[in-house]
Amino acid sequence: MPWSRLFRRFLRCHLLALAALVPPCANPAMARPAGLLEPSLHVAPGAKAAPQVAVTLDACMGQTDQRILDTLLAENIKATIFVTARWIRSNPQAVSVLKSRPDLFEVENHGENHVPPIDRPLSVYGIAAAGSPEAVAREVSGGAEAIIAAGFPAPRWFRGATALYTPSSMAQIRAMGFEIAGFSINGDSGSLLGANAAEKQFEHARDGDVLIAHINQPTHAAGEGVAAGLKALKARGLRFVLLKEAPLPRSPAPEAPGSVSALHPKAVSY
Ligand SMILES: [Zn+2]
Repeated sequence: MPWSRLFRRFLRCHLLALAALVPPCANPAMARPAGLLEPSLHVAPGAKAAPQVAVTLDACMGQTDQRILDTLLAENIKATIFVTARWIRSNPQAVSVLKSRPDLFEVENHGENHVPPIDRPLSVYGIAAAGSPEAVAREVSGGAEAIIAAGFPAPRWFRGATALYTPSSMAQIRAMGFEIAGFSINGDSGSLLGANAAEKQFEHARDGDVLIAHINQPTHAAGEGVAAGLKALKARGLRFVLLKEAPLPRSPAPEAPGSVSALHPKAVSY
């Protein structure tokens, strides 16, 4: 092989390897604004012989990923589904499936319109935040009202769009009577991972972990990996618990803005 071709191949391989290491948020336009919190959450560990995890799936808007919903049903895997009013309106069939299996599915609050519950005007990952305490209140209560109107029990947990908050918006949401649903393993990075990468994220789950992934992106490759990852967790013998079954969190640690890692944030840990 001529040297020029060898050099081109070397360059291509190394540039590709380098690109794979750059996180999507390396683009400054997509960086997370300073001072926001991404709370983490664990459930109580199970008995030694029965490790347990909580699977939480966001239904932000759009459609339903049947690959995931069918897997949950076929494998009898419990999951807590965070829905918005928008998703409820456009997915009546999936809503009735969720309603028909309260033993498997817990439905909790992901807000009314998928607006980040941040009480100052800014944009997060390209989405405009609520911008004021009044708008945060509308997003939270609008989501809860839609869940109740659809015939589900009143929600007790809230997870906002982008799962980011300010310390004051977290206090406000708690004062409205909701626990804030963080997570400990990001299973699909906003449904943007490839199938293999999402499956690998699920492999990281250990006793007490709370996984997050998305159930509203049927055209994304990530959903295939999430479905495979769920089956693999079950095959490993892990038990699945709903958030409502998990012991309530102890008093949260003092909340300090900034310097939280994307995968294992430490600012707020139960
Ligand atoms: Zn969402």
